[in-house]
Amino acid sequence: MSQPVVITVAITGALPRKKDNPAVPVTPSEQIESTHEAFEAGAALAHIHVRAPDESPSSAPELFAEVQEGIRRHCPGMIVQFSTGGRGREQAARGAMLPLRPDMASLATGSVNFPASIYENPPDFVEGLARTMQELRIKPEIEVFDLAMLYNAAQLVKKGLLEPNAHVQFVLGIPNALPARRSVFDFLISELAEVLPQATWVAAGVARHQWQVNQWCLAAGGHCRTGLEDSVRYDETRLARSNADLVQRIVDACDEHGRRPATAAEARQLLGLPQAA
Ligand code: ZN
Repeated sequence: MSQPVVITVAITGALPRKKDNPAVPVTPSEQIESTHEAFEAGAALAHIHVRAPDESPSSAPELFAEVQEGIRRHCPGMIVQFSTGGRGREQAARGAMLPLRPDMASLATGSVNFPASIYENPPDFVEGLARTMQELRIKPEIEVFDLAMLYNAAQLVKKGLLEPNAHVQFVLGIPNALPARRSVFDFLISELAEVLPQATWVAAGVARHQWQVNQWCLAAGGHCRTGLEDSVRYDETRLARSNADLVQRIVDACDEHGRRPATAAEARQLLGLPQAA
């Protein structure tokens, strides 16, 4: 029996521009179309950032609402996850779209250096976002950009701000943060099993590490994340044609690892989310 893998597609992100790869979806209609193609290819979870008309990161709830509505209409059951990430956004604005009640939202449980900035997540801010998500029944995806963030997540469970069946993502390969090293990956997984034994997990490899980390996840029984947010390239020589192109690469590799893409309904069950109405 093959084991289902929840494939996350991070369609847009905060950084890539159309000049990096014209396939990066920027307007809500481009985002909905790109997500739909990725869903048809086998993605079950969409990780969403929105952009202003000049392509800069935006916090505008009306843009998030438009994308969420389009995904719900065109991709039945697909899990919608909003980014509360910080690049270019004030802390106060980062949770402004949560009242739209997406299925999930990202929650980084600590601060870290990024290539040219500090990704600031002070303890009171993290707890405030966790509390808001709990009140709105939004499942957080815990973003682990550096080691302490894993243990901070376990502390949130102890404080009652996070359910024990948390979903945790390890982000590997951002300069100044965790490197995409197999030894680090193995260590994170074994630590997770000790400190959050009921958690599910996924890892993202950034830029040239994307495909390597996808393969590690398939082999180790984790879930997978891909998408133009993390890398605009399919491999060293080619730009990705689309988000679906990157999803398809994982789908094509499933068989050799005894995996198969989870349907949206299976993904909801695996992550402990209610089925779509
Ligand atoms: Zn993101």
